[in-house]
Amino acid sequence: MKPSWHKYLSLRTPRYTSYPSALYFDDSVNAAQFGEKLKTVDLYQPLSIYVHIPFCRQLCWYCGCNMRVENNYNRALNYVDAVLDEIRIVSRYLGGAGRPVSVHFGGGTPNYLQADDLGRILNTIELELGLTDDARLAIELDPRLIREGDFPRLAALGFTRMSLGVQDLDPDVQKAINRIQSFELIENCVSAMRKSGINDVAFDILYGLPKQTPKNFAATIEKVIALGPDRLSVFGYAHLPSALPRQRMINNQDLPCESMRRDLADLADEALVSAGYVRIGFDHYAKPDNPLAIAVREKRLRRNFQGFTDDIAKASIGVGASAISFINGLYAQNEKDIRSYCSAVNSQRLPAVRGVVRSTRDEVVADAISQLLCEFKTDLSAIFTHCAPHETERITLGLNAMEEDGLICRHGTTLIINDDAHSLCRAVAAAFDPYIYAEKPLARAV
Ligand code: SF4
Repeated sequence: MKPSWHKYLSLRTPRYTSYPSALYFDDSVNAAQFGEKLKTVDLYQPLSIYVHIPFCRQLCWYCGCNMRVENNYNRALNYVDAVLDEIRIVSRYLGGAGRPVSVHFGGGTPNYLQADDLGRILNTIELELGLTDDARLAIELDPRLIREGDFPRLAALGFTRMSLGVQDLDPDVQKAINRIQSFELIENCVSAMRKSGINDVAFDILYGLPKQTPKNFAATIEKVIALGPDRLSVFGYAHLPSALPRQRMINNQDLPCESMRRDLADLADEALVSAGYVRIGFDHYAKPDNPLAIAVREKRLRRNFQGFTDDIAKASIGVGASAISFINGLYAQNEKDIRSYCSAVNSQRLPAVRGVVRSTRDEVVADAISQLLCEFKTDLSAIFTHCAPHETERITLGLNAMEEDGLICRHGTTLIINDDAHSLCRAVAAAFDPYIYAEKPLARAV
């Protein structure tokens, strides 16, 4: 990486899985507003459903998720009952409108729940919201919690995509993050998934973890490639101990420096591309025949809460504590606290407590950022029509500097990120994101 690009690496930019980012959600959105928005869903509007299961058996020290270590399964069963109730409440507002085309279980650890309890949630979604026959079901799995016979049971429930939290296979790294799981365990999981007919196996990998070195991370990537997942996410670990006290268990001295982080990401990228994987956006990879890679070729790739996706639904309903919904321009996030979430639902209330309504300008910036992150190219003309002159000047100055540094090139209002700078696309997006460049949030002004 060119030395003049290092300053862009140190920028803390949103992941842009929503726009505006959840950092800008506030209590101006409440349950009543969300309820009204649910009533605007069209009869056959495609919906994607996200179900948050916030329980884990053990704490991984790097974790940034909304989760709780829970040793009492009965408490998890109470939570499942609340999720079922929330689905029924949402269903009343929808009044038969909307058609779920995908369901994604995330966490926490969805397979903390036994397959029968996951099945109860799916059955309720089917009964209350009406899953389409070809709806795609995906689930995130902790390999350490897989029980005998789980994969055939999950496959029988209709899950076709399973995502394993692999992170790193080196024993020293695993010890430093408090997540011990052997290569053999992952290998057995993949083999059992294949035997159950799962042909969309995804791995999550993290770089920037304590004790990672180019040598041990290269070995991890080599083993990962040998296991042949159909798609991978390679995320950078964000160390934010002041916001996430659990990360204080990680020794700062063990963390790779910024330039080594880049080396780790680069070596994973080179190894995966050499092995035949296709780059998907800036941090996903897929085999050429995987639906994600096909979506890239057909220019259907999109960005949503799960990262890069080929999901056709633009509207999504999140159920469970902290889950986020996006319906026709409105983001609504549920109570994060599990007890408060259950109490709201037990009182037959929608548990949404915060969010944001997108302005016209937000819509325009969101489209430009999504296109930039998915295709590394976008047109800024619509953005400039929503900018005050001083903002246009500010954006232009920022982009001029990026062009001089060799990150981007421009043809009129079309902005293209150069091939070797794709990993910096979020920094480029931040140059025209008013929530980032403005001293005060500007997006509400238009
Ligand atoms: S299993 Fe996942 S959600 Fe649970 S603590 Fe570990 S990283 Fe966090």
